[in-house]
Amino acid sequence: MPLTPHKSTPNKHTSSALLSIIIPCYNEEQVIAETVNRLNAFCSELTQLEVELIFIDDGSQDQTLVLLRNFAANDPRIKVICFSRNFGHQIAVTAGMDAARGDAVVLIDADLQDPPEVIHQMIAKWKEGYDVVYGTRTTRSGESIFKRSSARGFYRLLNKLSDVPIPLDTGDFRLITRPIVDSLKAMPERDRFVRGMVSWVGFKQTSIPYKRAKRFAGKSKYPLRKMLSFATDGLLSFSTKPLQISIGLGMLAACVAMGGIFYATGMRIFTNIWVEGWTALMIAILFLGGVQLICVGILGEYIGRIYNEVKHRPLYIVEESLGFTEEGPAATRSPDVKQR
Ligand code: UDP
Ligand code: MG
Repeated sequence: MPLTPHKSTPNKHTSSALLSIIIPCYNEEQVIAETVNRLNAFCSELTQLEVELIFIDDGSQDQTLVLLRNFAANDPRIKVICFSRNFGHQIAVTAGMDAARGDAVVLIDADLQDPPEVIHQMIAKWKEGYDVVYGTRTTRSGESIFKRSSARGFYRLLNKLSDVPIPLDTGDFRLITRPIVDSLKAMPERDRFVRGMVSWVGFKQTSIPYKRAKRFAGKSKYPLRKMLSFATDGLLSFSTKPLQISIGLGMLAACVAMGGIFYATGMRIFTNIWVEGWTALMIAILFLGGVQLICVGILGEYIGRIYNEVKHRPLYIVEESLGFTEEGPAATRSPDVKQR
């Protein structure tokens, strides 16, 4: 389906322009009240824009939803989408974009690590005519050395392997305009790596440096397992280079094995010193076996992703939505339903 989004024009937002702020929440009962306060304070400083705050409760098991229900009941700006279970941060952000009606959308974490005040600078860039304004982290306080260094290494590796340049040290905290949101809505892929998808879409993009604060309260909802799967999604969704690397590994192993064969045959024919015993044999078998398993594993990862795609399941299931007038968010998003 060809996409013909309207081009966003600089300075186009007037007093009636709408900004949608999307806040994914997973077990954030300790921070959510403060987040709402800070966002309200931010909104009250905005004179030229209307704001809607879309909270996505990503299957929280704590009191997050109860608190959100309360906030939504008392503030017409607050809208809530509640998933039927935990679908993950990237899917929560996707649901927010599906439901957003704004001329621009801001993605921000619930834990106040991304200061809402930075959004003012993002809006200024939007006025200058940029379509994507992403926050680049200059410092990251309150995060372990392991998290900081692994994130640093990951972004650099991803950039080397990826077919599109993905900005370094950049999370999902960003402002994106309507044409980009519409383009993202037309991308039905399941293993979503939103920051990479935004780079892929193109348009005029720029960055704002900011200091990433400490989490206001509670623990990170990205344990090592989720971080690894997120990193794998990023690498595999944006590059087929791992497949090429596995071919290279196979060739290297074959060359080493051929060298060994020539060496052993030469020794047998031209000298009296034979290569004997199990050691060489075992090393060759283990080496080749290892390389083969790695290559099959990489292949398997891609095939698994193809399998996931062809199942055509909806990306998420909405159990409840609050505060939406008119059409409201759809209950599900199926990859077939590209645009609503
Ligand atoms: N989050 C989510 N679903 C998840 C995990 C996280 O919606 O399965 C939300 C979380 O509530 C927060 C944001 O995604 O608003 C980023 O998560 P977190 O702060 O735990 O990640 P970190 O900053 O430690 O990487
Ligand atoms: Mg965080």
